[in-house]
Formats: sequence, C-alpha cells, structure tokens
Amino acid sequence: MGTPRKCPECNSKLVPIVFGMPNEQGVQEAQEGKIILGGCCMMPINPTRGCTQCGWEYMPPPEDEFEEQYLRELLSRDE
Ligand SMILES: [Zn+2]
Repeated sequence: MGTPRKCPECNSKLVPIVFGMPNEQGVQEAQEGKIILGGCCMMPINPTRGCTQCGWEYMPPPEDEFEEQYLRELLSRDE
C-alpha cells in the first residue's frame, strides 16, 4: 500500500505510533524504541508511524485499511 518502512529523512526504521493510554507493555516498548506513544488525544487523522531519530511522522491517507489492520493486530497481540 505504499506505506514507508524507513524514514525518508534519515533512513531509520519507522516504528508504529500507538494512541490511547499505554499499558505496561506499551511503556516498555516505547522505552526500547519499538513504538512511539502518541498520547490519548485522537485526531481525525493521526500519524501511524514515526521515526524515533528525527521525529518524522507518516500520515496515512484517509481510510488506509492496511494501516488500521496493522495497528489493530499490534494492539491485540498478547505476548
Ligand atoms: Zn528520521
């Protein structure tokens, strides 16, 4: 779907931006740089991926089902 996997600015790996109140796992993963915590304020369109190195954020086009599914799977996994 054309979703970038790497930062176009610095070529670092992009990580998912997770909205809502993070659970313990979320906080842990944010500290490890695996995800970015986006806070609990949902906007009509939110960035879904971000660069931890330079702060670049990927804003998906509206109704990007691939991204929605990606984030849903990310949040629903129970490791
Ligand atoms: Zn970057």
